Amino acid sequence: MARELIISISGMRGIIGENLTPDLAAAYGAAFGTFLKSTGKSGSVVLGRDSRPSGPMLAAAISAGVTAVGLGVVDLGIVTTPTVGILVRHLGAAGGIVITASHNPIEYNGIKLLLDNGIAPPAPLAEQIRSIYFARSIQYVDSVRCGRTSVYDQPDQVHIDKVVSIVEPDRIASRRRKVVLDSVNGAGGRPGRSLLERLGCEVIPMNLEPTGLFVHTPEPIAENLQGLCGTVRQSGADLGFAQDPDADRLAIVDEQGRYIGEEYTLALCAQWVFGHKKGSAATNLSTSRMIDDIASAAGCSVLRTPVGEAHVAQAMIANHCVIGGEGNGGVIDLRIGPVRDSLVSMAIVLQLMAETNLSLSELVARIPRYTMLKTKFSADQQLARTVLEKARTFFSSARIDSRDGLRFDLPDGWIHLRTSNTEPVMRAIVEASSPESAQKYLDQVMKFCGR
Ligand code: MG
Repeated sequence: MARELIISISGMRGIIGENLTPDLAAAYGAAFGTFLKSTGKSGSVVLGRDSRPSGPMLAAAISAGVTAVGLGVVDLGIVTTPTVGILVRHLGAAGGIVITASHNPIEYNGIKLLLDNGIAPPAPLAEQIRSIYFARSIQYVDSVRCGRTSVYDQPDQVHIDKVVSIVEPDRIASRRRKVVLDSVNGAGGRPGRSLLERLGCEVIPMNLEPTGLFVHTPEPIAENLQGLCGTVRQSGADLGFAQDPDADRLAIVDEQGRYIGEEYTLALCAQWVFGHKKGSAATNLSTSRMIDDIASAAGCSVLRTPVGEAHVAQAMIANHCVIGGEGNGGVIDLRIGPVRDSLVSMAIVLQLMAETNLSLSELVARIPRYTMLKTKFSADQQLARTVLEKARTFFSSARIDSRDGLRFDLPDGWIHLRTSNTEPVMRAIVEASSPESAQKYLDQVMKFCGR
């Protein structure tokens, strides 16, 4: 993982004590405030952070920058990333700022920006913010016009009320589910537990204290969740939920203590939503074909977008999608907010279980199974171009989508090749109806780059 400071269109990420320093954070806050004011915005920016110990330091610096250009700051304290998106709209704020490095290790932190619609700025606007930051063309105000800071102390409640409003809490509660929740001591523990208790679940807590001291590697993937799997088995729980530190992603463990894979979070949520409302879903080009199968069985459709939450959210709004998200366990329901949200996923999965009276493993067994393989390899621009050209020739019979690298759709699977925005690597994601086909496609891709 890159250790240098990265200022991409999705925000800033770096290492505390090395390159992500309070002076840069203050300048970034001031640049964002200057941008918002240049678009006619006034009022306040909503500010939230995950539980990392470096969060208060960055929050103070960013607040200084934002108030120095004449906007106010509404401080939410430690909250999930989706909570910030929800509160931006709930409070009618000028924009939002989230201090989080998501699933990255504790030495990292980052700053994500949201517009007044709760979505990250699209590329042209993000470029404007970067330009203001790099040129330091910041419009400071005089003493009298400096912004004020205030504290909003009920953010979780607003978020949870919205999530509960889309499901049937009494019906879920009647099942008296036993749920193990592993929040890796991130921001999701407190609201996650509150939500589950509101839905009548017995919560077996794992790492719910927002200390920011991650007790296991924080990305919610199988190898990091062995503790959760074991606790589900030993406690006889109905299921286990794992959030990443800013709680926009959710991974699920079934009643047998098996990690079902993050791709199933969106698939299960889509299954429930499509059962109640016909419409379309939006997801990125690297997400499993399961959602296409679920959509077609329900008479619904799926739109694909380039990878990135903002692309998915924008497509959902433009096309009035009833559900969306990404295969990494991030589900978006616009009734709650345009941000991936682990609380939404938890509520929908429990509602689906309540309605069908099926266990999680039974629900998973009803969805067509695929094998997905992922790899990444170093590739400069020249090698990346070569790989894409060779793939285009070799897979010429496939349906090709070129909006984000190249995606090749074949009868029994697909291949997505894309370069990273932040480092000189190429990612290859393949999915096929059998492990042998998936491996065959991946081996073929590796031949294109000479390996
Ligand atoms: Mg995250």
